[in-house]
Amino acid sequence: MPGVFQLPVKEIADEARRVQDLGLQAILLFGIPAKKDEQASGAYSEDGVVQEALRAIKSKCPELVAITDVCLCEYMSHGHCGVTRIDGDHFHVLNDETVELLVETALSHAAAGADMVAPSDMMDGRIGAIREALDANSFDQVGILSYAAKFASSFYGPFREAAESPPRFGDRRSYQMDFANANEALREVALDIDEGADIVMIKPALPYIDILWRVRKRFGKPTAVYHVSGEYAMVKAAAKKGILDERAAVLEIMIALKRAGADIIVTYWARELANWTRE
Ligand SMILES: [Zn+2]
Repeated sequence: MPGVFQLPVKEIADEARRVQDLGLQAILLFGIPAKKDEQASGAYSEDGVVQEALRAIKSKCPELVAITDVCLCEYMSHGHCGVTRIDGDHFHVLNDETVELLVETALSHAAAGADMVAPSDMMDGRIGAIREALDANSFDQVGILSYAAKFASSFYGPFREAAESPPRFGDRRSYQMDFANANEALREVALDIDEGADIVMIKPALPYIDILWRVRKRFGKPTAVYHVSGEYAMVKAAAKKGILDERAAVLEIMIALKRAGADIIVTYWARELANWTRE
């Protein structure tokens, strides 16, 4: 991932200040814990890496909107997004046990200062469970950005390496969506909105621009799109070889996403885009 770095907590507040000074309004935090275990305990511990980063960011940049990734894969020793059970050659991700830990994680992020939580796991019923728990704990102002349509995609590879979370066994196709199926995406989005999602997100971006358009048109909800690591790496590699003009290509991609209805774009080019649009 050229140009993309993991930051230690002690540097995160200065980085937050820099992105705020560039005119960016929001950041999305992913945590990489020092230790991973079978309960993903780093995800919901009070002194977890995301919780400490939030406190550092909020003390320096209280206005910067801090959104946190809520998932267990970065914290699980096996790298899956939930609690797993292995039966012989098969493994299952246990939905309800996983949702309980996701709720714990969301609450601990809210307590540390998150403005929004972004569950990225695709378990059933997690949006409703998180909404209910946030409301019951006086975090009714904390929003939910739901990864509503997350496709099983080949474009996630570079991120998994960067976040040190490739699954140790099996793959994630049992809980991510079949990319041939557009109707399932619309059903998943409808469910998440019913359960209380404030913003719905489509991931990846460019290969799913039809889904973005349909979701934005059908539901009229604030819609985000996640331009993922593989999409980023592809342009970077082509630019490095002189095949593409990076700036022109990136601006064209981002405008295409806006044209298709994106209200929010999550992108590794955020800093560069802020500079380019200012120029
Ligand atoms: Zn995950």
